[in-house]
Amino acid sequence: MHTYFEDRDYVIHNGPISLNTSSDSTLAFAADCIRKCEETHTKCTRYSPENWKPSRLIDLGPLDEPVQPKLILTESAKEPISYATLSHRWGSAKMFQLTSENIDSLQQQIPLAEMSKTFQDAFIACKKLGMRFIWIDCLCIIQDQLDDWQKEAERMKDIYSCGRFNISATGADQRDDGLFFERERLALSPFILNFDATHDSESWKAGSYFLLNPLMWASDISKAALNQRGWVLQERVLARRILHFGRNQVFFECHEIDACETFPNGLPDTEIFRNRALGAPSNGRFKRLDPELDGGWLRETKSMQRLKSHPDLNIFSIWGELVETYSSLNLTKWEDKLVAFSGIAKMMRQILGDDDYLAGLWRRQLPYHMLWSRRKDGGLITEPMIYIAPSWSWASVQAPVTLQPITDGKNEDILIDIIEAETYTQGEDVTGAVFGGFIKLRGFLRLAECAVWINDPQSLRTERMETCLAMKPKGRPADIIVWPDETDQFGPETSMRAKVFCLPIQIWRNDKGDRCTEGLILEKLDFDRDTFKRMGKFKISVGSKRGEAEFYTVSDEEWMTKPPRKLLSALIMFEERVITII
Ligand SMILES: [Zn+2]
Repeated sequence: MHTYFEDRDYVIHNGPISLNTSSDSTLAFAADCIRKCEETHTKCTRYSPENWKPSRLIDLGPLDEPVQPKLILTESAKEPISYATLSHRWGSAKMFQLTSENIDSLQQQIPLAEMSKTFQDAFIACKKLGMRFIWIDCLCIIQDQLDDWQKEAERMKDIYSCGRFNISATGADQRDDGLFFERERLALSPFILNFDATHDSESWKAGSYFLLNPLMWASDISKAALNQRGWVLQERVLARRILHFGRNQVFFECHEIDACETFPNGLPDTEIFRNRALGAPSNGRFKRLDPELDGGWLRETKSMQRLKSHPDLNIFSIWGELVETYSSLNLTKWEDKLVAFSGIAKMMRQILGDDDYLAGLWRRQLPYHMLWSRRKDGGLITEPMIYIAPSWSWASVQAPVTLQPITDGKNEDILIDIIEAETYTQGEDVTGAVFGGFIKLRGFLRLAECAVWINDPQSLRTERMETCLAMKPKGRPADIIVWPDETDQFGPETSMRAKVFCLPIQIWRNDKGDRCTEGLILEKLDFDRDTFKRMGKFKISVGSKRGEAEFYTVSDEEWMTKPPRKLLSALIMFEERVITII
């Protein structure tokens, strides 16, 4: 699949592309990207830190000498130390690690021969790029000391955001693949098509066109095995600039440009790269996501024109995008779910100022953030047996989620009042792991039944089943869609119908006045009348007449004229209560 764009200002690679990404010309391209970024990009230098350094670094030795790595402790260093970081994939095979036993000997020498190919290549790349120091997680965090790991994990935001650049072993499918690859250089040059005036038509004008694979970024970067790893997302978001050593070429990513050897001055900014379905930008070009530009664009796109770009709320579109991406990635240890995202949470906290972080949700936007839903295409099934987060947090499910867009902040459409919300963190880091939490709120509750409903009997073969709500006792499931938090919660093998509680949280209407209500499905816990656990989310879609009939008795006229909150009186058989969700 190829696309075309007009040959205007895009600079393409001049001269033949080298046969291997370890070549001097490839590394010269990388060095040039870093230099231009440091000298000319205001957004990238804006985040320049003041003399911050990680506790430990790997010293590769003087630049003009062969690589002789050793571990250094930076405590006593008075001068600023410029360093690189590495994003790599932890394989299942035993990897050389820093331990409390070898910490002294590694300060004399790190045995080069015992390093993986990726580490050895990273050392070479660093030196060729004029960098003497590098931070690598398994060599700079003591792996057999839990307290050291916790302390350093809390510092991830600074470790990655203060590094001069990040080397990403993006092309390595296996841990030992290394950074450098042979490539088919012809495939990297965009094909140029010249159209003369005799071909002029409505859609084609005379000129030069590049033919290019629009999935280049998606396939080489977004879908790379490394970028399916949960920990890597924050490394990528936080690093000021990244060199992705891909299978086919080296890509450069910073806050201002995305470039590659084929397009050394930046990828063409065509619509095709902005198309979400094709894997960009949300699916990959995170560093370009600017609250003002991309945040607004994302907000409008994701809410299908329902919400316009809003200066104060655009940042939450980016937050939502990051949470959604992160929730679809893999973690070796699910108990790291909040920890491996805490660097991004800290960055967000800096932007938001005094807002509180509650196990993946922001206090001021709590009603909206509580309305996340498990994506139906989520492929992960196993539920973690260990406690990760309260049931109202997206972190509590081991599945991809979707976040609710936030309206203009007037809260007119919100049907609950938050009374109190708290989480209990395991350490001092408020963005880290939690062992408990609750939300106490005033809202309207109603008993209902959840059922698995075959929404189209003709498609029985494809087993297209949806979980629906039945509001009336023994009623048929209405057109009320439910997203269960756990895939088998209401499944046929368990019980066909489950008694649940509905808590409507938001009512909104579109430009035509069509209404939509969204809320949570709750399960009452045995020990207390007022304590509940989240089981899923429900939605009465726009234009779903039967769903509406089950839900409210309000006329169209009333609907259009009454403020949303006043409509609560129209909710059938709902009881106002103060409840706690844990
Ligand atoms: Zn830059």
